[in-house]
Amino acid sequence: MIIGINCGHTVSGQPGCGAVGRIDESVETRHVGKKLIELLLAQGNSVVDCTNDYAESTGANLAEICRLANKQYLDLFVSIHFNAGGGRGTEVYTYGGRTFNAAEDACRNIAALGFNNRGIKDGSNLYVLRHTSARAMLVEVCFVDTDDADKYLKLGADKIATAICEAITGTKTPTVTQTTEEYTSTNDIIWELHHRGVISDKALWTGYCGSDVNVYWFCRKLCQYVRTKTRVESEKNEYEDIGAIVWDLHHRGIISDAALWTAYMKRDTNVYWLLRKGLHWCRTH
Ligand SMILES: [Zn+2]
Repeated sequence: MIIGINCGHTVSGQPGCGAVGRIDESVETRHVGKKLIELLLAQGNSVVDCTNDYAESTGANLAEICRLANKQYLDLFVSIHFNAGGGRGTEVYTYGGRTFNAAEDACRNIAALGFNNRGIKDGSNLYVLRHTSARAMLVEVCFVDTDDADKYLKLGADKIATAICEAITGTKTPTVTQTTEEYTSTNDIIWELHHRGVISDKALWTGYCGSDVNVYWFCRKLCQYVRTKTRVESEKNEYEDIGAIVWDLHHRGIISDAALWTAYMKRDTNVYWLLRKGLHWCRTH
């Protein structure tokens, strides 16, 4: 895997630096992140360090982090943070609050060390989730300004890094995540998408799936997504722009090859409408 790791914020005391309580966020994101990079490399992964130490402002720091992340393909982008404001526990932000194994396991593995599990949260408005093109998660390890910080100091950064590393690589999954088995038969997939109002012409799309393996896989992944989706999002306006549609589907993990689907949508109006309506369903249910 190729993983981008961002130790959140600039270094302590600089514009764009993190929160300070009983511990200093900028210092600890680096302790955790550097150890995490070491662990991932030791397991044979490629790592891109997306940390930016000095910037003129918070905005410049965030933009530079995304520039570092988007310079190359990444399987996953992980930004490490610590929370502030008097709460307790661990939380992980993803685009749209989508759950995937690495995010759920990061939350659960860190919480298992003695923190409250605050769960997966919608981070659609967070700059580094919105502006990175890879699948992304932002980990808020724990709070810097409550007794969370004392727990953290007792544990040490290495234990947190190990918990995140195991979540990313799936080397040790404490409990099996409940999964909905993916439909593989075209009939099941098309029935389901029709039933949910994503497509209207069953015969058209059955024909497509039989003759075009890319469309089959899109429908299969879309079907799995709609079947397992639980969150209701407030977004309502339908995306019409090909770039926006492809970007969003990619962020949701439904498609991986953005260039392939951009070209498809331009040359095949049926495929354009399939992706447009498919995404709209995902954004409004
Ligand atoms: Zn932060």
